[in-house]
Amino acid sequence: MAGEPQDDCLFCKIVAGTIPATIVRETDTTVAFRDINPQAPTHVLVIPKAHHENAAALATADPALTADVLREAQAVADEDKLDSFRLVFNTGSGAGQTVWHVHAHVLGGRGLEWPPG
Ligand code: ADP
Repeated sequence: MAGEPQDDCLFCKIVAGTIPATIVRETDTTVAFRDINPQAPTHVLVIPKAHHENAAALATADPALTADVLREAQAVADEDKLDSFRLVFNTGSGAGQTVWHVHAHVLGGRGLEWPPG
């Protein structure tokens, strides 16, 4: 069911605390943790605690929770004193999504090219 923890989901396990992560922020509804394979000096993933597959599924199921994720992304950027940052939701395998629990990549601390690869 939408929002329920999934046994085979890596990020649900991080939410549950059964897999370790470097958590930088946590709220009642979200967790933000450092990416294990950082692509920039700041590379943090912000996730809703509830399991939703991608950004559109999250927005459809729970608009308020979508807003929580976006606000937390800004809070991560503020904590790392980033004037500019990139917020990415890879959606679908063709775009590189490998974990099917929606996550916002917060990337910053270096120059960011556009368009991305
Ligand atoms: P991609 O792997 O192409 O970046 P996603 O957009 O689905 O695809 O992002 C998944 C992200 O999760 C990757 O950046 C990956 O490095 C990160 N990741 C995977 N396992 C962990 C973990 N245990 N702790 C923190 N980050 C992780």
